[in-house]
Amino acid sequence: MPAKPSATSPVSAAPVVPPFDPGDPLGLDDLLTDEDRAVRDTVRGWAADRVLPHIADWYERGELPGIRELARELGSLGALGMSLTGYGCTGASAVQYGLACLELEAADSGIRSLVSVQGSLAMYAIRRFGSEEQKQQWLPRMAAGEIIGCFGLTEPDIGSDPAAMRTHAKREGGSGGDWVLNGRKMWITNGSVAGVAVVWARTDDGIRGFLVPTDTPGFSAPEIKHKWSLRASVTSELVLDDVRLPADAVLPEVTGLRGPLGCLSHARYGIIWGSMGAARTSFEAALDYARTREQFGKPIGGFQLTQAKLADMAVELHKGILLAHHLGLRMDAGRLRPEQISFGKLNNVREAIEICRTARTILGANGISLEYPVMRHATNLESVLTYEGTVEMHQLVLGKALTGLDAFR
Ligand code: FAD
Repeated sequence: MPAKPSATSPVSAAPVVPPFDPGDPLGLDDLLTDEDRAVRDTVRGWAADRVLPHIADWYERGELPGIRELARELGSLGALGMSLTGYGCTGASAVQYGLACLELEAADSGIRSLVSVQGSLAMYAIRRFGSEEQKQQWLPRMAAGEIIGCFGLTEPDIGSDPAAMRTHAKREGGSGGDWVLNGRKMWITNGSVAGVAVVWARTDDGIRGFLVPTDTPGFSAPEIKHKWSLRASVTSELVLDDVRLPADAVLPEVTGLRGPLGCLSHARYGIIWGSMGAARTSFEAALDYARTREQFGKPIGGFQLTQAKLADMAVELHKGILLAHHLGLRMDAGRLRPEQISFGKLNNVREAIEICRTARTILGANGISLEYPVMRHATNLESVLTYEGTVEMHQLVLGKALTGLDAFR
């Protein structure tokens, strides 16, 4: 039997339960450190100032004007290669990097994509698999946003099955000789504005990564137009016609698909957080609209059917953020498995797009207008659902982990 508390015992004092916060119904802010909050607020403030006033216009025009200046500003914020260490990188925690992704994608998935590809794909590949000279040559200027990077894995005929890639690199003149690259890459974020392309190519030894300065003869990166998703993001084809590179252009520390897949794991982690940013903006727009839009003599938020939608959206949104935070803590502890990243990407992007679609219904006809952010986020998430591993690929990863049976082919 526990002893009875005395009149002066601290347990006799009623605990102070904070009031319900519609913006943070689970009290997830309590999980953050002061430093985490500072990172979140800085990135949120930057996006509010530099992206939100212009994003609908950029989206409508299908452009990301001033991308180089935006990259430099993101570099000054420390948001490029944010969770990498050394070489001018911030060395932030995985949770802080995740919070930054969430705040950037709350503005637009295109801005988060710029940062993800720069930091988690291009810079990550160099930091993890590059030589000391390659790191010194590229990383400090990429962290500062002076050089934009891209990551070329997907090809016109090869997407989910990169082991079948056709782009190839041949050595001329034996070991120590130049590499000559030929092939095509497709759907490459940042391609046309990049100063360096990380290109994955088949060699006699297996798949290798190459650092291709984009002014190398034979390299070109025409922009892909007519997208109805991620319109405020540069997406390009990479054309490699007899691109000749010195022997030391190859990333020396990795051979095989584990190279690109390791980078993709890092980028997918950021998407787990980022997608919840797009969902949060859409949820907030729907909540605001439901409180003020009147039909049948009262705000539509006063109808049970609208409240059911809002309640379900809030549950999925904050469950998703909680999941992202949990995975972030595991990444910081060095305990995050690729299957857990698949778990998070599968759930959070799928739920984010559902939240946007439901928000769209609450806004009625206004939901399809660029005056509101909902449809923009919903169409952006169509790309996010596909890139960095489609829903089906993550289901297959989890299915294999659960059953021990490989159903990929
Ligand atoms: P496919 O692989 O052809 O798949 C088509 C459909 O078939 C999908 O639904 C898929 O899930 C399904 N499918 C395939 N195999 C199976 C199977 N075994 N079982 C069940 N279903 C299956 N790539 C880069 O390398 N770098 C980038 O920077 C980049 N940025 C992108 C930006 C945008 C805006 C977009 C849209 C894409 C980008 N991508 C990038 C490409 C992206 O990663 C690929 O689109 C993605 O991997 C899917 O490949 P795919 O489009 O060729 O589809």
